[in-house]
Amino acid sequence: MLVFPKIKSVTEAIKLLGSSVRVGFVPTMGALHKGHLSLIERARKENDFVVASIFVNPTQFDKEADLTKYPRGLEADLAMLRSTGCDMVFTPSTEEMYAQNIQSESFDFDGLEQLMEGKHRTGHFDGVGTIVKRLFEVVKPNCAYFGEKDFQQLQIVKKLVEKNPWPIRIVGCPIFRETDGLAMSSRNLRLTKTQRAAVPLIYKTLLEVSKQFQTEEVLAIKERVTTIFDKHPVLRLDYFDIAEETSLRPVTNKDPKLTCRAFIAVFAGEIRLIDNMRL
Ligand code: AMP
Repeated sequence: MLVFPKIKSVTEAIKLLGSSVRVGFVPTMGALHKGHLSLIERARKENDFVVASIFVNPTQFDKEADLTKYPRGLEADLAMLRSTGCDMVFTPSTEEMYAQNIQSESFDFDGLEQLMEGKHRTGHFDGVGTIVKRLFEVVKPNCAYFGEKDFQQLQIVKKLVEKNPWPIRIVGCPIFRETDGLAMSSRNLRLTKTQRAAVPLIYKTLLEVSKQFQTEEVLAIKERVTTIFDKHPVLRLDYFDIAEETSLRPVTNKDPKLTCRAFIAVFAGEIRLIDNMRL
């Protein structure tokens, strides 16, 4: 497995492969878990050459503490990637990606960026757009793999590709969960024992919502979710929304023609976890 911290090495190696080699790409921020590896495995099945990147992107963090406390472990990550059959890993420094200007570009994702995560994390999707664009320009993949765990990000990346002349297919991959339903996330490593015991409630709530959605109105469901977390000693609800899957527009009245999804963000102390489920 090739490990390159420099843009130049990656672009040269990709050029050497030639245009007949299908390149699959999985961007990550490291602290890898089985969710990330499921993306690598999918890329492995569908491409000739698999590239992953590990880069904790400063411009997509709205809170300094979240960035500094983000889990990091390069050696363990590389071992996992090697065992999953990844061919190349791009591990740039912040200077390599941003030089001296650690700033986001400003993007218009046709309003997708203003909802949910965009509303609650100022500038987050400008940071995501900036780094994904730069990574795509370096790796020039045929296909890029993103998890439905970050469903809004997946839709934003699809929009980014739609608005640029890149021949890249964006592939959404299912959410990989712990046995108790908790969506795998690098941030789970930071949970205390008490918080870890409490957070399966996020998935449990989504399961209940998906049942209630068959018979109940959206407003009643939202009120019930708010009540569950209002009383909770460890968890705090940041937002809960039911939205149409592609436009991500909030749904107020059910319409059988719409494919809807429930989206949730919850704080356990200062650790913020997100999850979602198709209804
Ligand atoms: P991250 O390292 O958190 O930026 O995630 C890198 C990629 O892995 C993103 O496309 C995520 O959506 C995806 N991902 C993270 N956690 C999971 C999971 N539990 N299941 C599936 N994909 C995931």
